[in-house]
Amino acid sequence: MGENPAIGKKFRGHPSHTAGISATRQLPFAVPDDRLRDRGATMLVVMKAQATPEEIRAVCEHIEQLGFRPHPLPGAQRTAIGITGNQGEVDRGNLEELPGVAEVIRVSKAYKLASRDVKEEDTVVRFAGTDAAIGGDALAIVAGPCSIESKEQAFSIAEQVAASGAQFFRGGAYKPRTSPYAFQGLGLEALRIMAEIRERFGLRIVTEAIDNESLDLVAEWADVVQIGARNMQNFSLLKRAGKLRKPVLIKRGLSATLEEFLMAAEYVMSEGNYEVILCERGVRTFADHARNTLDLSIIPAIQRLSHLPILVDPSHATGKRDSVLPMARAAVASGGDGILVEVHDHPEKALSDGPQSIYPAQFAAMMDELEQIAPVVGRSLPRGIHVGIARA
Ligand code: PEP
Ligand code: MN
Repeated sequence: MGENPAIGKKFRGHPSHTAGISATRQLPFAVPDDRLRDRGATMLVVMKAQATPEEIRAVCEHIEQLGFRPHPLPGAQRTAIGITGNQGEVDRGNLEELPGVAEVIRVSKAYKLASRDVKEEDTVVRFAGTDAAIGGDALAIVAGPCSIESKEQAFSIAEQVAASGAQFFRGGAYKPRTSPYAFQGLGLEALRIMAEIRERFGLRIVTEAIDNESLDLVAEWADVVQIGARNMQNFSLLKRAGKLRKPVLIKRGLSATLEEFLMAAEYVMSEGNYEVILCERGVRTFADHARNTLDLSIIPAIQRLSHLPILVDPSHATGKRDSVLPMARAAVASGGDGILVEVHDHPEKALSDGPQSIYPAQFAAMMDELEQIAPVVGRSLPRGIHVGIARA
């Protein structure tokens, strides 16, 4: 695939990145002098491949002493340390002379920590004690109802999606509804039900936080904190999510550009939380045959520019049960890292998003199809989650 077999495989679908570090070196970093005044420009310290952990720590401490924030991002080949912050100056000369430093460069894009300039290889979000991951070769499948409505409903759906091999369970506890009169979610009760589901079936839990209060609770009870489309530019919520040490799944805003989407990720990462997962869920267009327009073209565009994993939600993208499977097939075919899908065993009685929820039997069929498509695009579809695994 690329010149460097060690990294070529990582950059699936966008061979231009097999250029690796040299792509970074081509960045325009001509600056008037080498004492760079910080005007929001991020500097990047590229460590030598053989740099020791002590040398990396010393560089981070030096950056802190300068009044900046270091973001060490280890890669397969070498560690890069992103520098953010806006006080004082960065003395490139001093940094370049520290032991273990290969070079100091300037990142020109608006998003920095989310960019491949800072971290070349794909981010893989792992879940301690399990074999589940989001990003990497294995597809991640997140399935469950729009809302948790009762323990019986949630357990019944969880049992069926687990039997088909999903590793992640989704269910809304706090719902961002267009109408204040619509079902708002069971809140903490739903979080407790999902914690029982994790206990019973091993499924890792993905659920949405809609404000500061629910963020703290979701972070306590769930495995992945979802930030919904309507909150993609809720910057204070994003910053707070950045202070968590839990993966954050950000859904694309209803009219968000690629840059706005990556800037949302940047908000979370700038606070030190680098476990960010993106999710394309359709954007609003003039099309009236579907709830939204699924923009799969953002997948290669994101993968070219960012190392973050991207899932696809064919449920909210289409709003129609019959469209979910075709769009899920296309999502995997176009390089998505997995699917987030709504499943309900009695969608006609669902308290939210029944028309777009697929039946458990349709989910089982979808898994069979995705399993066949996956190897065509160099992926695999794991079936079921293994827990109690000791991992380094
Ligand atoms: C959801 O996943 O239930 C949801 C509300 O999604 P979105 O934020 O994409 O509308
Ligand atoms: Mn929904």
